[in-house]
Amino acid sequence: MAIATVNPANGETIKTYDALGEEEIERRLATADSAFRTYRTTSFDERARLLRRAAELLDEDAEDIAYVMTTEMGKPIRQARAEAAKCAKAMRWYADHAARLLADEEPAESDVEDSGASRVLVRYRPLGPVLAVMPWNFPFWQVVRFAAPALMAGNVGLLKHASNVPQTALYLEDLFHRAGFPEGCFQTLLIGSGAVEDILRDPRVKAATLTGSEPAGRAVASVAGDEVKKTVLELGGSDPYVVMPSADVDRAAKTAVTARVQNTGQSCIAAKRFIVHTDVFDAFAERFTEGMKTLKVGDPLEEDTDVGPLSSERGREDLEALVGDAVESGATVLCGGERPDGPGWYYPPTVLADVTPGMRIHHEEAFGPVATLYRVADLNEAVAIANDTPFGLSSNVWTRDGAEVDRFVRDLEAGGVYINGMTASHPALPFGGAKRSGYGRELSGHGIREFCNITTVWHG
Ligand code: NDP
Repeated sequence: MAIATVNPANGETIKTYDALGEEEIERRLATADSAFRTYRTTSFDERARLLRRAAELLDEDAEDIAYVMTTEMGKPIRQARAEAAKCAKAMRWYADHAARLLADEEPAESDVEDSGASRVLVRYRPLGPVLAVMPWNFPFWQVVRFAAPALMAGNVGLLKHASNVPQTALYLEDLFHRAGFPEGCFQTLLIGSGAVEDILRDPRVKAATLTGSEPAGRAVASVAGDEVKKTVLELGGSDPYVVMPSADVDRAAKTAVTARVQNTGQSCIAAKRFIVHTDVFDAFAERFTEGMKTLKVGDPLEEDTDVGPLSSERGREDLEALVGDAVESGATVLCGGERPDGPGWYYPPTVLADVTPGMRIHHEEAFGPVATLYRVADLNEAVAIANDTPFGLSSNVWTRDGAEVDRFVRDLEAGGVYINGMTASHPALPFGGAKRSGYGRELSGHGIREFCNITTVWHG
C-alpha cells in the first residue's frame, strides 16, 4: 500500500511519501538504541515534565490536528477534536501516576521470611526500544495510549503507523521532539508493512505492540515469538450489546446508536451485535433503527456530521460484501444497506435483523456503521450468542437485575463488561481483549507494566 494521504470524503490524493530506505532505518534504530541508554536513567519527574509539555502542545495544536485526522481517515471533525483532547488527558494521567504505578514493591516480610533475604524488592525497569504497529482508526489515540506509558516507563518508541495516516505519524514524532524528549525517544518510521519483520528481528528492538486486524497481529506476533520478544496485541472485536427486559430501553437504544456508529463504526470496541430479549425486542429495534436513520451522514469537516466516509475504498467494499452475504442468506434490512452515489467512501447506517450463525457477519468484524440484531428468549441464549464469536474484546449489558449482572460478569468471554452504558477507554482502566481480540493490556497500571523488566532485587 502506498504511503499517502488520500481524502476519504472525495478520493483525492493529497500527499504521498517515499518509504524509508534501509540506511535510514538503520540510522533510526541506532538512534533509538543510543537514546535508550541515557533516557532509561532519567527520573520520573523529568519524564513527566516532558510529557506534560507534549500535552500542552497537543492542546494548542488541537484544531490543526483534528483537521489532519479528518482529511486523512474521514473521522467527523467533532470526534477528531475529542480524540486530541483525550490524548492530552492520557498524557497528563501517566505524567501524574507513573511513578506510583512503577514504584518499587516490597513483598510482605511474612511471605518471604524463608527466602533467606534480609530485604527483597521488585523493581520495574524499562525494556528498551519498543516497536508500535498502529492502525488508522484512532490515529492519535492508538499511538498515545502506547507512547505515554512507554515513555514514562523509560522505554523509547518506534512507530510504524498505518500507511494512510502519514501526516499524523510525522506530527507525532515532531510533537515529542518539540516537547523536549531527547532525540531518538520517539521516532516515526515511514515504512510499509513488509519492512516490519526485519525491524522486529533486530536485536536492538526489544518488544512490539500492535493494534489492528487479526492477520496483522498474527504476522507480528509470530515473528516476535520466533525472536522471543514480548508482544501486546489489540485486535478486532465484535462486541455484544445485550438488552434485557428490566433495562431502560429508551436509554439503551439511544446509547446503542452512538456505540455502533462512533468513528463511523470503525472502532474495535464498538458494539456490533445487538442481542435483545424478546420482551423488549420490538421496542428496542424500532427506537434503535429510528436513531440510526436520523443520523447525518456527510462531509466530515461539517460540524453537525455524525457519520463520515469510511477510511478507504477497500473498507467500504469489505463492509458491502458482509452485508450482501447476510442479505442473500436471509437477513432483513431495517435501514441502510445501499451505498450512496457520488464521490467519497460513504456507507449509510444500516441495521440487519434475522441474522443467523451461517452468515459471515455473525463471525466477522463489521468495520463500519452496520449493526446486527438478534432476538433471544432468555439470559442463557443471550450469553450463548454473545460468546458465539472468535472475538472477546469488550461487551455491554443493559439490565437492572443484580443476579443477571452477576451472570454476565461471570460468563461473558471478553476483556470488559460494561453495564448500562457503552464501552469507552479511560487512562485508569485496563483495556484489551480475550480470544482472537488479542492479549495483554493497555492503559492503567497493567498497561505501563507490560513493557517492563520486572526485576527481583534480593539482599542477603
Ligand atoms: P491492518 O491490521 O492491516 O493494519 C494495522 C497496522 O498493521 C497498519 O500499520 C498496517 O500497515 C500494519 N500491518 C498490516 N499487515 C501487517 C503485517 N503482515 N506485518 C506487519 N504489519 C502489518 O488493518 P487494515 O487497515 O487493513 O484494516 C483491515 C481490518 O482490520 C478492518 O476492516 C478491521 O476489521 C480491522 N482493524 C481493526 C482495528 C482495531 O482497532 N481493532 C484497527 C484497524 C483495523 P499498513 O497500513 O502499511 O498495511
